[in-house]
Amino acid sequence: MVPSLYVHVPFCMSRCAYCDFHSSAPDRASLSAIAPRWLDAIERHLAELSRRFDFPAFSTIYIGGGTPSFLPPAIMAAALSAIARSCRAGLAGATEWSVEANPEDIGPDFLSLLAAHGVNRLSVGVQSLEDKARVVAGRRGSARSTMQVLDLLAARWPGRRSADLMYGLASQTAAGLADDVRALVDRGFGHISLYELTLEEGTPLERNARAGLVVLPDDDERADQYDAACEALLAAGYRHYEVSNWAVPGQECLHNMRYWNMDDWLALGPSGVGNVAAGRGRFLRLENTADDMCYYDDPSGSMREVVISGIDAMFESLMMALRTACGLDIAGFRERFGHDAIEAFGPLHELFPESIGLEAGSWRATPRGMDTLNRVLVQAMSNIERLRNRYTTSDEETR
Ligand code: SF4
Repeated sequence: MVPSLYVHVPFCMSRCAYCDFHSSAPDRASLSAIAPRWLDAIERHLAELSRRFDFPAFSTIYIGGGTPSFLPPAIMAAALSAIARSCRAGLAGATEWSVEANPEDIGPDFLSLLAAHGVNRLSVGVQSLEDKARVVAGRRGSARSTMQVLDLLAARWPGRRSADLMYGLASQTAAGLADDVRALVDRGFGHISLYELTLEEGTPLERNARAGLVVLPDDDERADQYDAACEALLAAGYRHYEVSNWAVPGQECLHNMRYWNMDDWLALGPSGVGNVAAGRGRFLRLENTADDMCYYDDPSGSMREVVISGIDAMFESLMMALRTACGLDIAGFRERFGHDAIEAFGPLHELFPESIGLEAGSWRATPRGMDTLNRVLVQAMSNIERLRNRYTTSDEETR
């Protein structure tokens, strides 16, 4: 087993108005007190997972959050060293090692620290280069200061670069978003994730929008923004390889590809979720508690384990694969689950010809299908209760 590794850092310098990710915003003094506990817990958890799963190395590593770049440098260095030490076959097999960072934390020392430990990909939370949009979204830093960091990265960072952009933010414009894309393209960001703003219940932005204090772009404006960004990305030679992700060919995120293929990965840190194959088309889901203190006290003991099997495992696999341009390999599905995908879910390419094509033995979302995937999945899911009995595994039958 050569799994991937995800590490969740549950700290941010401040909370963005739209975000419901698992993180808190301690001040520097509190962070100095709590970050060593986080480090100690992930080291213990890593050792326990290593004993249990006996992996020689990681194929990809991704440190996300939260804001990993907010960690004190000594804690970041110790976490990177601990991960490297856990790979008895060395780090050479880790084809991709990514760290997420916010522009405000990025400076020459931070970049040197990452490069010295073998990190070869940086994922930067840009979101928008329009000041008004940044303010309403609660992002720290101005468009100008963010741009300066992008210039620094273009000059000083030797590895690959990815950036997150959002659309649908208040005050954002289609022309402004296309300019943001071009600014990243010009600075060598070979990978761009483009996310639509979703109003998560209970976030400050959702409350403000509900109270009429913030006016968000309507459907037409959001569609114009999305189209303008896609046009700029296509013109620059980027490939739309997953619903929310674009890359210059060869710069796709290998770590996320493992999620979409439902390959094995382990997870450290509060709220992290791992997934490993459990035989006969079943997955073992390893869910770390989202209670930080419980995790720090006993990372493995507070982890919940769930077996995903039968039609649930098959549907998850379908859902993840259809997000990607590679789509769902029908023969591979049969090999993994012992069942035929067309028989299980119906001929999706005939039921939704505008959204799903059957090409070279794979179901693939068409360009339009990438935008309308939910409708297809809802239809495929409508059969799930009927299919649940039919595809129950023999294990479950005897439970
Ligand atoms: S920095 Fe990222 S994780 Fe932290 S609050 Fe903002 S969007 Fe959420």
